[in-house]
Amino acid sequence: YDAKKQGGNQFVMYGMAHSAVEEELALQDKLAHAIEKKTLDVYFQPKVSLQHGGITGAEVLVRWFDPDMGFISPITFIPIAEKTGLISQLWEVVMEKACRHVQEWRQLGYEVPIAVNFSAGQFADIENMTERLQSILAAYGIPAGQFEMEITESALMEQGTTEALHRIKTLGISISVDDFGTGYSSLSYLDSFPLDTLKVDRSFIDGIEENERKRQIAELIVSLAKRLELKVVAEGVETEGQRQLLQEWQCDEMQGYLFSKPLQAQDLLQLLQNHSS
Ligand code: C2E
Ligand code: MG
Ligand code: MG
Ligand code: MG
Repeated sequence: YDAKKQGGNQFVMYGMAHSAVEEELALQDKLAHAIEKKTLDVYFQPKVSLQHGGITGAEVLVRWFDPDMGFISPITFIPIAEKTGLISQLWEVVMEKACRHVQEWRQLGYEVPIAVNFSAGQFADIENMTERLQSILAAYGIPAGQFEMEITESALMEQGTTEALHRIKTLGISISVDDFGTGYSSLSYLDSFPLDTLKVDRSFIDGIEENERKRQIAELIVSLAKRLELKVVAEGVETEGQRQLLQEWQCDEMQGYLFSKPLQAQDLLQLLQNHSS
């Protein structure tokens, strides 16, 4: 019901809080079920080189469609999975589904490096996680060098990630800092983690054509990454003007609706086929 129309008295406030809790519990239940039944789906958003325009890889993004509720955003359900201890199971479903597609593409002659998003909570049992990671990659015949881990700047800052990242790095996996610039952290970590890539958050890309100040900040982030000899990827590139500026600054790669939205596996394959012919 529409609470605003009810006038916001105490009774209604109580009723709302109550139903919000119930809603959250129902969502937790449905999510646990979707993970258990592996009904979550994976989409792939290509990354493209700003030098030669070729597809350099794809990021795996989880999708959840519930028959009653429709599409639910990962922004909503990833935090629930983290809070309820389901994130590692969710990750396994995502890994297996994504790797199965990558294997198919490899068999068709398309070697597509993939990047998978990780949550900080997954590093709690690093032994088990790295073991699962290695065995899934091996099962689908994917070389570690074709696999990248994305971790947000705020997740990096949590306890115990330094050691975990060094372990992961020894497997030959690349490490990418996601949403770079949004973690409100000091920059000193750039030195202590074995990083390969910075992904500039899309909030820094938005507005660079119109706003001089924003343009200076974005250019500075790109040159910071280059000075540190890290690969730099711009997220959320939506316009040709943004692309041109990024190319001018020698940003390595871009990702965003300008080139492609996240795609179903079959549509990414089609894109690969069209792009390479
Ligand atoms: P992210 O890793 O930063 O992923 C980029 C998000 O930006 C995706 O949203 C993508 O659909 C969206 N995006 C890409 N290009 C554009 C653009 O040009 N304009 C705009 N406005 N948006 C764009 P999505 O798929 O809703 O995912 C949101 C976040 O949820 C991700 O942000 C990531 O942090 C998290 N996430 C998604 N899948 C997974 C997963 O499998 N595991 C974990 N742990 N987190 C995930
Ligand atoms: Mg990401
Ligand atoms: Mg990102
Ligand atoms: Mg982002």
